[in-house]
Amino acid sequence: MPLKRIVTATMATGLAAVCVVASAPAASARPAPPRTPVAEGSGGAVVSDTVESTQAGIDVLRRGGTAADAAVAVAATLGVTDPYVAGLGGGGYFVYYDARTKTVSTIDGRETTPARDSSTMFIDPSTGKPYDFETAVESGRSVGVPGMLATWQRALQRWGKFSLADNLKPAEKVARHGFVVTPEFERQTQSVAAKLGRFSPSAELFLPGGAAPKAGSVLRNPDLAATYRQIQREGVGAFYGGAVGRDLVRTVQNPPVTPGAATPLTGPMQLSDLRAYRALDGTPTHINYRGYDVYGMAPSSSGGITVGEALNILGNFPMSTMDQTQALHHYLEASRLAFADRNRYIGDARYVDVPQRQLLSKRFAASRACQIDPNKAGTSPVAPGDPYAPGPGCTTAPAASSDSNEQHTNHFVVADKQGNIVSYTNTIEQLAGSGITVPGRGFLLNNELTDFNFAPTQGSAPDPNLPAPGKRPRSSMSPTIVLHDGKPVLAVGSPGGATIITTVLQILLNRFDLGMSLPDAIAAPRASQRNAATTDAEAGFLALPAAKGLEALGQKFKSGGDIGVAAGIEILPHGRLLAAGEPSRRGGTSAAVVTGKN
Ligand code: GLU
Repeated sequence: MPLKRIVTATMATGLAAVCVVASAPAASARPAPPRTPVAEGSGGAVVSDTVESTQAGIDVLRRGGTAADAAVAVAATLGVTDPYVAGLGGGGYFVYYDARTKTVSTIDGRETTPARDSSTMFIDPSTGKPYDFETAVESGRSVGVPGMLATWQRALQRWGKFSLADNLKPAEKVARHGFVVTPEFERQTQSVAAKLGRFSPSAELFLPGGAAPKAGSVLRNPDLAATYRQIQREGVGAFYGGAVGRDLVRTVQNPPVTPGAATPLTGPMQLSDLRAYRALDGTPTHINYRGYDVYGMAPSSSGGITVGEALNILGNFPMSTMDQTQALHHYLEASRLAFADRNRYIGDARYVDVPQRQLLSKRFAASRACQIDPNKAGTSPVAPGDPYAPGPGCTTAPAASSDSNEQHTNHFVVADKQGNIVSYTNTIEQLAGSGITVPGRGFLLNNELTDFNFAPTQGSAPDPNLPAPGKRPRSSMSPTIVLHDGKPVLAVGSPGGATIITTVLQILLNRFDLGMSLPDAIAAPRASQRNAATTDAEAGFLALPAAKGLEALGQKFKSGGDIGVAAGIEILPHGRLLAAGEPSRRGGTSAAVVTGKN
């Protein structure tokens, strides 16, 4: 295991401010490059969380790479500069518009449960009851077989021009030379310091000297650089069965804790689980909303179906001519209803019978729309509908619960000069995932398996989201691509746990019904109703003129922090591209175009 993990050098003094000292020379201090949330131009575009990852993608596009090539470069670089939300230890969903065939396709790179002991993995054998969430969440038990690298390889096989080794180069370089810590990175590290401190390789890597690296210091990850180099040399086999995989499995089976820290649950993952992992080619969900063809992610994500169902419900109302209060009221109610159906019916479709066609039918949407009272908010939990027998009336069934709204993922978009588009959401689940870094390898392991329900949630009806061997936990990730008259017009997505769905829905509503530009649609204040008694709302949403009117209709809000961190690209006439990210949420995101205004 290499001695040296990270060197930081403070901007102010230029002195090494760290703990683990070793051979790497101290990096020179420099200010963090500014993030530009909006760019317009041509020749290709990228919007992602960090300046380095966006630049990596733009460089690949400039060298003639496709959107898929650039996406791999962006994702791998995010593994360095955004390590608490994504990287080799996680998974995600890749949606691709192929300009040659004019089709949208998907790759499901979601983590899977190990084959062994999975059905009962979250049941405490000593009590026969589910483990507390807190017990499971920072442990080897929560770690799913990562799908990230397999997704990159599959995307390149299908749509790439360069090799995986080529596309990993920018990330390897950033890991080796380091990047300037942003205030957001410092804040994120502080917020997960207790978790990182519990596991020795994580503390060593991310808490040099026992504290979060300061904004302005340079952070390197030589172990990750070496891991990327090994994958460049040996291919994905190094991970899915080779030396990296062996280290990963050993870590899951026996998480390395710091002296004195409580012993976490171990995980059942074996090398054979890594060998068996496949990223799955798939067909996107599709609905037509006011002439726009909206393509999303099918199960194992609930994103495409839930966004699609909610849009179908809204399609029953004249959203663009309603006043702001009524438009937002209908948005919240459509989301409330769609979430009830999501929770009842959606899981990994290889394991449960998901009525995708029925949930996305206009007839079912009409039956759900009839339940929206323009004068009164619904009372959650509302019951799911019956997509197998939709009628004008309302069905009754067991109620559903809402999900968490944490934002611990990233979404990015890429367009190339041929017109190919990537909309890719990737994650390690919670911020810093399980908290466990694979020793000597420089990346954190996910805790995605906690997206399963540990015990049935649907009363006497079956729960579609219980663990089983090789099953993928239900996700909310909603990478989306929209076409109009057969031509792409928009790609968008966001992190945010279950709020991903409402964020994507709200942006589409803002853009297509409420007349906002894409940057405004992304910047607009958000609220998220997920079949709960209260709607999560940003302070800015509660300051809208409509907020009082919504409360008068019985909408109840819980004021909270930022919801989502969206990234989008709009394809303007004559091939121009409008790349739009967040002006301020999570420290802002970084948009750039190959040629034009950056
Ligand atoms: N694990 C979540 C999902 O798949 C994403 C995590 C997040 O965005 O916080 O839906």
